[in-house]
Amino acid sequence: MPDSSNHISSPNLLTDTFGRHISYLRLSVTDRCDLRCRYCMAENMTFLPKPDVLTLEELFDLSKAFIDRGVRRIRLTGGEPLVRKGILTLIKRLGDEVASGNLDEVTLTTNGTQLPQMADALYRAGIRRINVSLDTLDAKLFEEISRRDRLEQVLDGIKAAKAAGLKVKINTVALKGQNETEIPAILDWCLAEGLDLTLIETMPLGDIEGAREDSYLPLTALLPGLNTRWNLRPSTFKTGGPARYFAIEGSDNRLGLITPLTGNFCDGCNRVRVTCTGRIYMCLGQDDHVDLRAALRSDNPDQALEAALGKAMIQKPKGHDFAMKDNRMVGTVGRHMSATGG
Ligand code: SAM
Ligand code: SF4
Repeated sequence: MPDSSNHISSPNLLTDTFGRHISYLRLSVTDRCDLRCRYCMAENMTFLPKPDVLTLEELFDLSKAFIDRGVRRIRLTGGEPLVRKGILTLIKRLGDEVASGNLDEVTLTTNGTQLPQMADALYRAGIRRINVSLDTLDAKLFEEISRRDRLEQVLDGIKAAKAAGLKVKINTVALKGQNETEIPAILDWCLAEGLDLTLIETMPLGDIEGAREDSYLPLTALLPGLNTRWNLRPSTFKTGGPARYFAIEGSDNRLGLITPLTGNFCDGCNRVRVTCTGRIYMCLGQDDHVDLRAALRSDNPDQALEAALGKAMIQKPKGHDFAMKDNRMVGTVGRHMSATGG
C-alpha cells in the first residue's frame, strides 16, 4: 500500500494573520547584474556562489508550489533576470502555466540591456507585459547613476520590446539632484512613446556609497509641479501592486507613484518575495524570512514546503517601517534590493 502519511492532497491557500491573501509572487532568479546602479548596489559586489542559487528546475518547482496555493501572478526579477543563463526555459514553462489557465500572468522587471536580442523570444515564451527601469534619458547621467554606459542599448531594447508586441511600463527612481529636474522630460518622452510611467521613492535597502538621504526625493514634493504641467486625476486603476495611479488628461497613458516613505501602502499587500537562494521574505522592508531551499532539497519537499510556507504566513509582518525622521531615513534594512528582488 502506498504511504499516504507524507502526501499533501490539497495545499492551503496562502493567507496571513491579517487576513491578506497572497496572490502575487516576486521571484528573483539571480543576484547578478550587468549594471551597478548606485542606489541599488555597490561597485564591488560579492555575488552568491552558484551552488547556493536555486537551479532553473528548482525555481520552477517553487513557482508551481505557489501556483498550487493560489498565486495568480509571478514577476521575475533580480539582479537582472535576463542575464541568468537559460532563463527563457523557465519563462517558457511559466508561460505554459498561463496558457493552461493555472496562472494569470508572468511578467518581468528588467533594466532593458538584453532586450534587443531577447524581446521576441520573451513574447514567444508567454510574456506580454514588462517593466523597464530607466532613470534618465541623458547618456552621461545614465552612466553616472548605473556606472555603465548603456543608455543606447536600453533604448534599443525598449524599441525591440514594443516591436515584439510587449506592453512596456517605465519605472524611474526619483533621485534628488540627479534626475529631479528631468522627470517632466521623462514623462513627456513616455507619453510620446505611448508608455506608462511609474515614479519610485528610493528606499533604505543595503549599504551604498554616501548617505541615502542625499538622493532621497519625496514624490509628494514632485507632484504639484507635474500637476501644473499636466492635468492629473487620481485613477481607480490598479495592477495589484503598491502604485497609486493618475490619469493624464489628453493621454491614454498613466502616471504611477510608489511612495513607501510618504504614503504607506501595506494594508492591501498581496505579495511575497523569494530570493534566488530560496529565502521567502514576507516584506521588502523587514528581515523576517523562511528558508524554502532547505524544504525544496529535503527528502519530502511537498510536506516540508507546506510547513515552511505555513510558518511564513504566520510571520508576515503588518508592513515596513521605512520613514523619514528628523531628515534621517529610518526602518533601514541591510539587504540590497538586488538581493531580495525589486
Ligand atoms: N535589474 C532589474 C531592474 O533594474 O529593473 C530588476 C531588479 S531591480 C532591483 C528592480 C527595481 O528596483 C528597479 O526599478 C530599481 O530601480 C529598483 N530599486 C533598486 N534599489 C532601490 C532602492 N534602494 N529604492 C527604490 N528602488 C530601488
Ligand atoms: Fe542592476 Fe536593477 Fe539593481 Fe540597477 S536596479 S543595479 S539594473 S539590479
